[in-house]
Amino acid sequence: MLIWDAHAGFELKSVAELETLSAWKAAGVGFLSVNVGYDVVPWQNTVKALSLARDWLRETDGYRLVESVAEIDAAGAAGDMAVAFDIEGMNALDGSVDMVRFYRDLGVRQMVFAYNLNNAAGGGCHDDDSGLTEFGRAVIVEMNEVGMVIDCSHCGYRTAMEAMESSRDPMVFSHSNARALRDHERNIRDDQAVRCAEIGGVVGVNGINIFVGADDTTTESIVGHIDYYLNLVGAEHVGIGLDYFHPVDVGSGFEETLAGNDRYWPKSQYPGVDVRCAAPSQFAEIAAEMRRRKHPEITIEKVLGGNFRRIAGEVW
Ligand SMILES: [Zn+2]
Repeated sequence: MLIWDAHAGFELKSVAELETLSAWKAAGVGFLSVNVGYDVVPWQNTVKALSLARDWLRETDGYRLVESVAEIDAAGAAGDMAVAFDIEGMNALDGSVDMVRFYRDLGVRQMVFAYNLNNAAGGGCHDDDSGLTEFGRAVIVEMNEVGMVIDCSHCGYRTAMEAMESSRDPMVFSHSNARALRDHERNIRDDQAVRCAEIGGVVGVNGINIFVGADDTTTESIVGHIDYYLNLVGAEHVGIGLDYFHPVDVGSGFEETLAGNDRYWPKSQYPGVDVRCAAPSQFAEIAAEMRRRKHPEITIEKVLGGNFRRIAGEVW
């Protein structure tokens, strides 16, 4: 069974973060989308992170930068973990639609409009959400053209709904839980998940404690979000974007970043809880818990990876 993790949660600043990819590999993950940048940092950091990751993947046995589903399958057959990149927020484009193709050529296969706050492309989930801008609409056309997956995680409600009306291709919420189970602005409403499924997309369940529950990373609760989505949108449209970062090696820096920037992470939404995340080792537990709840094996395969793999086959 292919295990597909649609989003890693660390900020890529050094080789130390890349070395934590061993946690995914040890868990049998076949594909991981590695985040190379987000709106909080200058866009140049994204280019540096890409340089670092591409070099590391070229030089390190057991990992492979991939450009297609066929290459994911080939990596799996050779025992390698496949990797591509994602970007959270279009500040990384520095106002230029042409940068979409540049990033795609460097291995980026998925991009979010706005990370929590409004930007030149659209609205963020912790902002007043001004909706999709003309620039954002032009970026959608270009992403459809070059074959990059549109990701509406972290976006405002209106921006996500407008993006889903504009995109020719199916799109995803790569790491967004159900707001009906956990009322947090980073989680999404039922009609967003339903619309995403109607256009052929996938919603990815997130393993961060504050989005799963008040302070909860248990496998049972993560499968609770999976079950909720399965009932709401069906077995073809649910996946997992665990958002994991290694707590010992790189996690301490994130809490300082979070505490030091209450615009991107408003205190009302992040009230002093330690940020923790479900580990890649829980993929096996998620599959076991789904079996225990009598889900058919084909549903488990789709949720653990088959659905996001289908999106990649259609869009990349
Ligand atoms: Zn994120």
